Amino acid sequence: MPEKTVMIICPNLKCRAIVQVPERARGKRVRCGHCGIHFAIPARHEGARPDEAKQQSSKE
Ligand SMILES: [Zn+2]
Repeated sequence: MPEKTVMIICPNLKCRAIVQVPERARGKRVRCGHCGIHFAIPARHEGARPDEAKQQSSKE
């Protein structure tokens, strides 16, 4: 099956290139192909709300 990819903007302010990495790279460190710095991929996408908090508050 096709592998999901994540688009991350390079944290290097002088680079800001869009780096595409596989979904399973989350929580790991990758290298920007443009400027060459290493940075960590956040475990969750910004703005994405986990359903876990929703389940906790709902009491049937
Ligand atoms: Zn970069």
